[in-house]
Amino acid sequence: MRQFDDPLAAVAAELFLPMGVDGVYARSALYEDVVERLAAYISRQRDPRAEVLRFPPVMSRAQLEKSGYLKSFPNLLGCVCALHGTDSAISAAVQRFEDGGDWTGSLTPADLVLSPAACYPVYPIAASRGPVPRTGLLFDVAADCFRHEPSRELNRLQSFRMREYVRIGAPAEVAQFREQWMQRAPRLAEELALPCKLDLASDPFFGRVGQVMAVSQRQMSLKFELLIAYYAGATPTACMSFNYHQDHFGAEWGLRDADDQVCHTGCVAFGMDRLAVALFCLHGLRPARWPQGVRDALAL
Ligand code: 5GP
Ligand code: ZN
Repeated sequence: MRQFDDPLAAVAAELFLPMGVDGVYARSALYEDVVERLAAYISRQRDPRAEVLRFPPVMSRAQLEKSGYLKSFPNLLGCVCALHGTDSAISAAVQRFEDGGDWTGSLTPADLVLSPAACYPVYPIAASRGPVPRTGLLFDVAADCFRHEPSRELNRLQSFRMREYVRIGAPAEVAQFREQWMQRAPRLAEELALPCKLDLASDPFFGRVGQVMAVSQRQMSLKFELLIAYYAGATPTACMSFNYHQDHFGAEWGLRDADDQVCHTGCVAFGMDRLAVALFCLHGLRPARWPQGVRDALAL
């Protein structure tokens, strides 16, 4: 049976092993080595002032609710559930399973969700430290992310790695941060010999209201993406995004500077799995044979 419904099935077979659910895969050593080298390459681009934080794949449900996620992407959210009942209620649920019945009806939500993006937990952490310094804040964050969109396409995983640089500060500083990264990212892609284009984008907001939100996001140029075609003629895949949240997180979390002005925020996200897959699709399955410039950049 073919695991992937795209022309890249042969590539996918060398990189990913099925785990029984579409969009969730075990990763081969060949693939993971490239992901690690790519992560190190991105670290070498880091501003020395950035604070590094690594998040687990789960985060506080209350914090994600407060961030407004349910208004924007309720359909993508994965929530952790557990058997919270008494010992006898838990035993009864297990017994129902043993009897061939359904045990999942006894599950109730825990106080955790699966992180849908790497930057959500950083805003409450920054806010808990008091006023934002005049020069603003810069973070380097990463997390395993989950989005409930099962697919058999190689570029649409339910569980994928995201790395982000996050800027918190005055509007002009955040705008400049994003601008600089939008100039820099295509140069990095060039160093990795990944043909790309930068384009205005919008998030897949949920529902009818979501369509209106997407139009306004575009009108205000709040999101750009770095797009890479995995093969000639393929619809390009968004491998990085450049996001300006205006005062959304600043207002929600009370991120204020010393003059009590609400801070703005922005983030630059690297889709680690999409970038790694792009490298394999465009340069082949043998990193030893990749162009010398790419090998140098990735210390291969
Ligand atoms: P965004 O928050 O802009 O939707 O996502 C940031 C980056 O995460 C995207 O540019 C992309 O590289 C990566 N990403 C988003 N969704 C998926 C997905 O379904 N699969 C994979 N592999 N990466 C994704
Ligand atoms: Zn972000």
